[in-house]
Amino acid sequence: MTTRKASSKPSPRICRAVSAGVLIALLALGPAWAAETRVGLASTDITPPLGMPMAGYYHARGADGVLDPLWSKALVLEQDGERAALVVLDIISVTREVTDEARAAIVKATGIPGDHVMISATHAHTGPELAKRSQRSDDMGGRQQIAVDYTARLPGLIAESVRRASEQLQPVRLSACKGQCQDLAFNRRFFMRDGTTAWNAGKLNPNIVMPAGPTDPEVGVLSVESAAAKGPGQILATYVNFAMHPDTTGGSQFSADWPGALSRVLGGYHGSNHLTLVANGACGNINHVDTSWRGAQKGPGEAHRIGVMLGAAVFQAGKALTPVTVGPLRARSERVECDLPQLAPGEAEEAWQTVAAVKDDRGANFMKLVRAYRAIAVADRQGKPHRLEVQAIALGRDVAWVGLPGEVFVELGLAIKKNSPFAQTFVVELANENIGYIPDRRSFAEGAYEPESSRCAPGSGEKLAGVAIQLLTQLHRENAGLADATR
Ligand SMILES: [Zn+2]
Repeated sequence: MTTRKASSKPSPRICRAVSAGVLIALLALGPAWAAETRVGLASTDITPPLGMPMAGYYHARGADGVLDPLWSKALVLEQDGERAALVVLDIISVTREVTDEARAAIVKATGIPGDHVMISATHAHTGPELAKRSQRSDDMGGRQQIAVDYTARLPGLIAESVRRASEQLQPVRLSACKGQCQDLAFNRRFFMRDGTTAWNAGKLNPNIVMPAGPTDPEVGVLSVESAAAKGPGQILATYVNFAMHPDTTGGSQFSADWPGALSRVLGGYHGSNHLTLVANGACGNINHVDTSWRGAQKGPGEAHRIGVMLGAAVFQAGKALTPVTVGPLRARSERVECDLPQLAPGEAEEAWQTVAAVKDDRGANFMKLVRAYRAIAVADRQGKPHRLEVQAIALGRDVAWVGLPGEVFVELGLAIKKNSPFAQTFVVELANENIGYIPDRRSFAEGAYEPESSRCAPGSGEKLAGVAIQLLTQLHRENAGLADATR
């Protein structure tokens, strides 16, 4: 936690107002923080060996090729001696254990404190299945030696990307903006003619009445420009925050899905050394499937189409980039207790039989299997509530990041953005750990896939969002110099 007292660069008007004596004293002391912002960037290849089990679905599959490599991409930000690291991984999700080990290695290698490090997963569905102490992971291959070895290596690879980034800090100019990308992401839950709520209702389905919720077309952009030149400098990196499931490529070859395609599109303009970091937004119920369009929407071509469309939105937004006002860099994490969902009597016992018996998960038994893995995971906690990390990082009064511990429904992400005092808030899901789906309260009542597979009780999402807004409010007050000095 940052304890540095907030201060700000004296404005010219204030300087004229203070007496000469005070001014001399101020000059002798120097500014409380340097105006210079520095950023370091690095990426480490985390593509697993072939044969590695892949994550993403309710059936086991091993990787037999590499379409495009997977990366741990790190952006280290430094302001007045304070540093924070934003890391994005081309994998489906990150575990508590991997984050804890990576943070410990990062502290050791760089001195950046753990709660100043946000490690998020893009949620690519064509990456590795990590070993993660859950029955579903075990059944998808997470217990295989190759997965255990890879999972043990991953924290070191993440720390390596942060270490190299922190060794390459250079003066930069940061700018941010909110772009828009319409008609690319869709709410994948639908109200149906028979009164039910359906998940992925299918293309051109005449029984769809309307989507059951909103989307978030906002494209959050942070642009990192080299400050070496007086005029426009080289764009070194672009941090993109957009809410949409990356499950477009499919198949059994490793791929970073549309975040990889977007990186190629932005790199095509800014040059091969440019780094694109994609932090997924609150996309628990959002995907790329347009049910009103008959297009197939699957495969590497679809990832490319999305990369081009989203890339166009980022380029368009680039014209509206606003310089980020320099200010203190602070970070804070809080552990939030979230209850377990109720299980029916005998549900866990029956779940074990289901998991043993169900072989065809793609057919009529899919939801049976989903509910069974949920019951096993919930029973395994023996009544112990979750303690989930909500993290906030703020730079000055303009820009903040929020890290949330699972697949968050878009309604919750929109509520955080609406109530954040920062002009630009990046809501990052699947940050630091993953509890699975985090629906809003209303969606729990409506049922279907995500609420019925959720490992947390109704109301957990609102609680986590509430803490996120609280942390943002505190950091904003402190960065504005309004904080109680005794805090
Ligand atoms: Zn998902």
